[in-house]
Amino acid sequence: MKILVVNAGSSSLKYQLFDMDNEEMLAKGLVERIGISGSRLKQTVGEKRHRVEMPMQDHVEASKQMLNALTDPENGALTSIDEIDAVGHRVLHGGADFTKSTRIDEECLEAIEANIPFGPLHNPANLMGIRACQMVMPAVPMVAAFDTSFHQTMPPKAFLYGVPYKYYKDYKIRRYGFHGTSHRYISKRAAEFLGKNIEELNIITCHLGNGSSMCAVERGKCVDTSMGLTPLEGVLMGTRSGNVDPAVLQFIMNTDGLNPDEMLQMLNKQSGLLGISGISSDMRDVEDAAAKGNHQAQMAIDMLIHGIKKYVGAYAAIMGGADAIVFTGGIGENSPELREQVIDGLDYMGAAIDPDKNCVRGVECDISAKDSRVKVLIIPTNEELVIARDTLAIIKGLKPEA
Ligand code: ADP
Repeated sequence: MKILVVNAGSSSLKYQLFDMDNEEMLAKGLVERIGISGSRLKQTVGEKRHRVEMPMQDHVEASKQMLNALTDPENGALTSIDEIDAVGHRVLHGGADFTKSTRIDEECLEAIEANIPFGPLHNPANLMGIRACQMVMPAVPMVAAFDTSFHQTMPPKAFLYGVPYKYYKDYKIRRYGFHGTSHRYISKRAAEFLGKNIEELNIITCHLGNGSSMCAVERGKCVDTSMGLTPLEGVLMGTRSGNVDPAVLQFIMNTDGLNPDEMLQMLNKQSGLLGISGISSDMRDVEDAAAKGNHQAQMAIDMLIHGIKKYVGAYAAIMGGADAIVFTGGIGENSPELREQVIDGLDYMGAAIDPDKNCVRGVECDISAKDSRVKVLIIPTNEELVIARDTLAIIKGLKPEA
């Protein structure tokens, strides 16, 4: 069985093709600058690199080029598009409607549409990707995997905001959480790695990349997470502010004469590591600048670490302790310094790192100190593989895992 996984953005389309007989990734590609000048496709199949530059005015054209690249006689991975058994789409916001990945039908498309107000940048793009794939592969079954679905086990005390209840009842204003596919994968993988049943474990998962989120996974179920109605809440991120007292917004809007959209744009795009360091949203640049003595860069890193540590403490408190803390994402997998400082001082809760074991990047491993009661792990995430597995399970008529 061959499954194509698609992640459509407003001007991009990322894809991976899997052979599910052995879960091997056969091809990986990216179409960029869709609908603007300089459209291009880049694809890797093993050692083979394929590049196409041509105008692509919309996602339909991009999807056609994706299929052309996948079936390219020299650089492709398929002889015919008929070999694609199903397509799994990453979708940002499924609201509370979806607790699992689901087969895409009219009802599912309507629900993705209905959740556009909560995912105004991503859901329309995800829909464009789905519709484009449906046009170019009309007979192929499609599945949606939502970033929100793993978090729908949160109890109301964790997902409600302290605003008048009618906003939840009438408008569904609440915490939904994101990166669910990743938190689900790394918590399950952590249990497997430790040789334990996930139902016996309390795990704190830290997905730290351009966007970052934390999750409390109690006996396999999400009981709290740091992102909220949108992916803006929680720890400091590349360009997103994370938690801010809403009164700050009123002050900035009045002072700079900003409207709500402009304010949100600032919180989403000009804040976080970029806004504090004034240098970059990329952790590598910020770490380099800090190492050269840049005060604001160091401050940005300190804020990120402080925020992560607060969530670790909070989640240990609500779960009555933790058995494991898991790091993933570009920063979580690759920054030994950050991991060391997050865990530093957590001896009181039984968590300590072995500095030698921690000197690794991007490999699945246990970095806990010998006597650490709480296991500290690095588990590289693989959201595309989870989406491919869900898609396979659904088209085989099985239920995807919770
Ligand atoms: P996304 O959220 O877009 O999927 P990633 O998970 O790829 O992002 O994470 C990107 C972040 O990971 C960037 O801030 C990048 O600087 C950081 N990162 C990648 N490699 C390293 C590294 N070696 N050391 C520190 N940070 C790294």
